[in-house]
Amino acid sequence: MKRIPWDQYFMAQSHLLAMRSTCTRLMVGATIVRDKRIIAGGYNGSVSGGVHCIDEGCYIMDGHCVRTIHAEANALLQCAKFGVPTDGAEMYVTHFPCLQCCKQIIQSGMKAVYYATDYKNHPYALSLFEDAGVETKKVELTELSIDANYQDKDAYVKRLLAELERQTTNQEKFQALQTEAESLFRL
Ligand SMILES: [Zn+2]
Ligand SMILES: [Zn+2]
Repeated sequence: MKRIPWDQYFMAQSHLLAMRSTCTRLMVGATIVRDKRIIAGGYNGSVSGGVHCIDEGCYIMDGHCVRTIHAEANALLQCAKFGVPTDGAEMYVTHFPCLQCCKQIIQSGMKAVYYATDYKNHPYALSLFEDAGVETKKVELTELSIDANYQDKDAYVKRLLAELERQTTNQEKFQALQTEAESLFRL
């Protein structure tokens, strides 16, 4: 049995968190890990109990949505709220952190930031991370997928198969393809 590597497991958690985001401008998830254990997680969203961008639209000032707390900050604040030390921990985040988050990550004592997607990687953030001795490394999610559209994709494969069945002249080949599709999708 093949086990999912640690960095894939933690990055998958961040992708899952991103799906809870309440701001549609960018859906970000962040997971804080210490000694191979998840100690906190966050996604970008409004303050607790506040209105959500997905319901009320974003609150834009100077081209940015000012309603949300970024995923990285939310994860760090969860540690503050519950008194969990962040010194020496690592962060897994779906997108390269913005400048504000970069500074907060450094100041909270993180030793590494793993990100899945480049996102306006600011040269100042990169140099701040480097000067602080915080490792930055791209870790794309490759071992599994967190797929919010899987039902649409299953339905699409089902339609493809129906069309193929209508047009095929080779029943045996079609049956083999159908069996394979049934093992890969929820048909
Ligand atoms: Zn927003
Ligand atoms: Zn940020």
